[in-house]
Amino acid sequence: MQPWNNGMPPLIAVVVPCYHEEEVLPETARRLDALLTRLIGEGLIAPSSYVLFVDDGSKDRTWAIIESLHRSNGRMRGLKLARNAGHQRALLAGLLTAKRDADAVISIDADLQDDIEAIREFVIKFREGYEIVYGVREDRSTDTKFKRGTAQMFYKLMSRLGAEVVYNHADYRLMSKRAVEYLAEYREVNLFLRGIVPLIGLPSAQVMYKRHERFAGESKYPLRKMLAFAVDGITSFSVRPIRLVTATGVLFLALSLLVAIYVLIAKISGQAVPGWTSIVLSIWFVGGVQIMSIGLVGEYIGKIYQEAKGRPKYHIEKMLMPETAAEERGSYPLPRPWDAEASGGHGTAAR
Ligand code: UDP
Ligand code: MG
Repeated sequence: MQPWNNGMPPLIAVVVPCYHEEEVLPETARRLDALLTRLIGEGLIAPSSYVLFVDDGSKDRTWAIIESLHRSNGRMRGLKLARNAGHQRALLAGLLTAKRDADAVISIDADLQDDIEAIREFVIKFREGYEIVYGVREDRSTDTKFKRGTAQMFYKLMSRLGAEVVYNHADYRLMSKRAVEYLAEYREVNLFLRGIVPLIGLPSAQVMYKRHERFAGESKYPLRKMLAFAVDGITSFSVRPIRLVTATGVLFLALSLLVAIYVLIAKISGQAVPGWTSIVLSIWFVGGVQIMSIGLVGEYIGKIYQEAKGRPKYHIEKMLMPETAAEERGSYPLPRPWDAEASGGHGTAAR
């Protein structure tokens, strides 16, 4: 791990997805601007650091507000999506746009439920050399009991199913430019960023923070969207549900043996009605074979599904190169991935 040593403080972009956020935007912009001004004053971040608001196809005054924010303050930028693409995609659009001219990108929700003071810690970690910094909630006391309970169930289920997610981390995080470049190589349509980001690797750190209530407006994540998001998260990362079907099939086949013994005994001891034995036997045996076959077909679908995602197979963290080249290129051990096109790829070539 190499600390940031570009000679200049890093240029930080804060990406804020916004969907019907007219009530919170002016205040959010004010707070973020104050924070950036302070961090610039401290010399922690570059003076040209900025905020990028992504309007996710809002139908209210969100975009008008972003435009006026930009007019009065050049540090406020905007990106408007053609239609509502959903939180995850809006966020990705923002990250990919912002990384073009930022050294690191921080994502945060428009309602500032996540304590923006943590951004200072994010930047400090980044300057120490961490390329992904996860904001982790200290506790969930501001959530409703229901949301807390369901969220906990979700994290447990995810880890049981073998997907690596950072516990109590939502989409509040810092990513280096290179980490975002790598993220862009995940070509899946069903985006579940929290699940993908840990797959990237690279040195990462966690910063604890307290989560507040929304200071205005309502949650844009009703139960329906939350459930869809959870299902997406699980099915985008695991084929274990399919395995479960196969396992159930095997179990039923095994059970059919026991049933066979039972019905045969019943038949021999003369307790069975004519025809019963064969019916019960075939129900269990054929049922087991069917479920197992479905699971087997599922296995193939699972393989196709994983191939279809075409995820990158690896990312390079470091490369050894002559010293002189290293100095020219700045803070990262070489080559910096954003120079990749010129220098011939950084891991995608083998795909
Ligand atoms: N959001 C978005 N597109 C959507 C839904 C939500 O960009 O379709 C944004 C929203 O503006 C906010 C963030 O995603 O900045 C998180 O939404 P919210 O705060 O309503 O979710 P909660 O905190 O209740 O889970
Ligand atoms: Mg929120």
